[in-house]
Amino acid sequence: MVLADPFGYREGEFRGRTCFGMTRNRNRMATLEKDGWTLEDAEARYARGDDLFWMPTRSERERLEEDLGEGLYAKLIFLIQDTTPSDRRKVKGERMWVEVLSKKGALYHGHLANEPFTKRGSAKEGMPVWFGPEHVIDLIRGDGEPASRQAEVVECETHGLSETCYVCAHLVGARGLGFHTSENPDKLRPDAWCDECETLLQEAGSWEALGDREPKISSLCGGCYDRTRELNLGSEE
Ligand SMILES: [Zn+2]
Ligand SMILES: [Zn+2]
Repeated sequence: MVLADPFGYREGEFRGRTCFGMTRNRNRMATLEKDGWTLEDAEARYARGDDLFWMPTRSERERLEEDLGEGLYAKLIFLIQDTTPSDRRKVKGERMWVEVLSKKGALYHGHLANEPFTKRGSAKEGMPVWFGPEHVIDLIRGDGEPASRQAEVVECETHGLSETCYVCAHLVGARGLGFHTSENPDKLRPDAWCDECETLLQEAGSWEALGDREPKISSLCGGCYDRTRELNLGSEE
């Protein structure tokens, strides 16, 4: 069975930096129903702490057009319907690079630069992809290294790539010590400390005023941070 390619794309129809898909289908994001594949809202997944603990900052993801034309690639999470007859309902997730070519309105446009592992699906290398800032989980600019290799990113054996999070050293591997956080609306996982450190902080008025008594700080990945919060919040079991 031959499935219709998304956006009517057929091999060999790209000319330079424009593609067939751009004229036939204007600024439309793919859906599982119509195209057999779609993009995962990575921002929502990151907020849930669901196997995604690092993304470029929102402002970076909103300004990709500033780096167009210099080997700009964005990594996105594709959800691809496996069309194996016995396997109809299976949707496979794949993290793949897209060469970013233009921006129209709120959406970016590019071409898939990887060959999907899911062979029995309609996602194909070279196909047109429309996406928004919420889909971008990594970036390559000007043939350089992925942004995840340059930014303040840790690699955890359990949770993979993650933003670096900071907590007082008491909290690491502990239970029921309390969990206080700084107010930082820009950070999903702000700096955190235990009840004891909170008491010290209240007495001194600021971290700076603590001087030598300032607690040791440990860094954690986002997944380990979530686990640490879970274990230390609420009453001891
Ligand atoms: Zn502490
Ligand atoms: Zn971890």
